[in-house]
Amino acid sequence: MIIFEKVKKIYKTNNQIINVFENLDFTIESGDFIKIVGPNGSGKSTFLKLIKKIILPNQGNIYFNDDINHSDIAYVSQNLRSFFLNLTVKQNLLFFNSLNNKSKINFESKILENLKYFNLEEKINTQMSNLSSGQVKKISIIRALLSNPKVLLLDEVTSNLEEKSRSFLSDFVQNELNKAQNISIVWTTHYPNEIKQNNEKSYSIENNMFKKFS
Ligand code: ADP
Ligand code: MG
Repeated sequence: MIIFEKVKKIYKTNNQIINVFENLDFTIESGDFIKIVGPNGSGKSTFLKLIKKIILPNQGNIYFNDDINHSDIAYVSQNLRSFFLNLTVKQNLLFFNSLNNKSKINFESKILENLKYFNLEEKINTQMSNLSSGQVKKISIIRALLSNPKVLLLDEVTSNLEEKSRSFLSDFVQNELNKAQNISIVWTTHYPNEIKQNNEKSYSIENNMFKKFS
């Protein structure tokens, strides 16, 4: 579905070249739940940004098969500052939905349905500035889900969440989004203990290379 072929990614700054990936081959199949663990700076966000085409490789190719296109991919970044803080949850979600040309039918009921997953339905008319960072993170996942993605890229979504929310989110993504709704997932984390289920495709990033997690 998404194929990386000999991908090289470097960043050039004033006085150094940072080599993130060299000759990376990787395939994401429809229905996959891929987990990637690596310490800060190992390239997790770079990998997701390459999939979403926020950045481009320096060499090699990343291509999509016919079953998906760019607008089927939703990316939940680590940056929580991309909302209008003086607008409500609903106003934000309506605004971001207006930017994509997917179905807007029953959109308000979809917002409520998604807020309910996270027990946030009471916050629909709350100003974003009055939410905790964990709640903002959940709203950013909802924003991604409202675009009806076939592929969901989750960048360290459990960091800064309390234990209860972390395990809820992990189960929700696995059971509801991946298994029930058949959304393909790429989940990054710096917590090795988030990778325990043995039916996942799990990788660690070491020395700029992906290795099967063991
Ligand atoms: P992770 O998400 O695993 O913490 P990143 O993908 O953000 O890692 O970063 C990988 C490496 O690339 C790090 O060394 C980081 O400092 C560097 N890097 C990331 N983005 C940029 C950028 N825009 N310019 C220069 N270096 C960058
Ligand atoms: Mg990152």
